[in-house]
Amino acid sequence: MLSPLQDMRLGSRALAKRPGSVVALCAAILLLLGPDPVSAQDPLLVRADSLEEAYGEHPGLGNPVVHRLAGDAYAVTGLFHSSGEPGVNAGVVFGENSVVFVDCGMSVASGRFLWELASARMTGNEAVYLILTHHHSDHVFGMKVFRDKGATIISHSVAGWFLRERGGQYKAFIANMEGWSEKEADSILGDVLLSEPDVMIDDDYVLGIDGDTLRVLVTPGHVASELAVYDPKSGTLFAGDALYEGMPPHTRFGGADEWHTWVAQLERLKELRLEAVVPGHGQLSSSALLDENIEQLRLLLRDVN
Ligand SMILES: [Zn+2]
Repeated sequence: MLSPLQDMRLGSRALAKRPGSVVALCAAILLLLGPDPVSAQDPLLVRADSLEEAYGEHPGLGNPVVHRLAGDAYAVTGLFHSSGEPGVNAGVVFGENSVVFVDCGMSVASGRFLWELASARMTGNEAVYLILTHHHSDHVFGMKVFRDKGATIISHSVAGWFLRERGGQYKAFIANMEGWSEKEADSILGDVLLSEPDVMIDDDYVLGIDGDTLRVLVTPGHVASELAVYDPKSGTLFAGDALYEGMPPHTRFGGADEWHTWVAQLERLKELRLEAVVPGHGQLSSSALLDENIEQLRLLLRDVN
């Protein structure tokens, strides 16, 4: 787990958009510390800076911050969300000849950002996977980028059903909900094209990547199609919306039965060796976030009983 100071130094892309006094303070600290050897060498962190210049103020990008985790895992926090801050998160894990993306943001621009970011470490010959933690717009709208690149896309079968049966109307639904014209939706969300994933699972699944494994865990509660991805090598849990940071869990897609299931799943996740926890929304966290979310769900359950 990165210390707050390391995190601030690595997340250089975010600094440019912060208020002047914060930028000045960070600049002063950096001056005292000298050149940052990590961000100077890590290709994704270097690429993040150049992507900021290339994208400018694209309305569908948000304010992404790239975090290098242990092993070969990265998290991206703060991607565009139609409701604003703190945005939506995603992950990237590299194998020797593979790259696995976890979620793809709420816009084609977010998906493209993730792809171009990871490309900084890719040769072009890798096996590429995209795991969708569930079917909600903020986690799947960038999927066209990965489909076009030939990625193998993995989701829960319930998410697969939704993407196949309802995916075609989903962009218009979001535009309507947000009060956007078709033109506004196009400029923000891009050419959203949803399709049925290649691999659809109902039970926990092990994805082999070059001798290592990623564990795809079925973790219903927020929705029935919820998946979490665990990288044992780095001790990273990409939790999707099984976990929220900085806000209570979004419970409006279920009732008491689903929330009981949710708590049981979070208890199960506590058994993992966790070095970093990447929630679907909010800041990077630690295993303590599991207890926080469990507590919030239990309070809710107490109120309805
Ligand atoms: Zn979400």
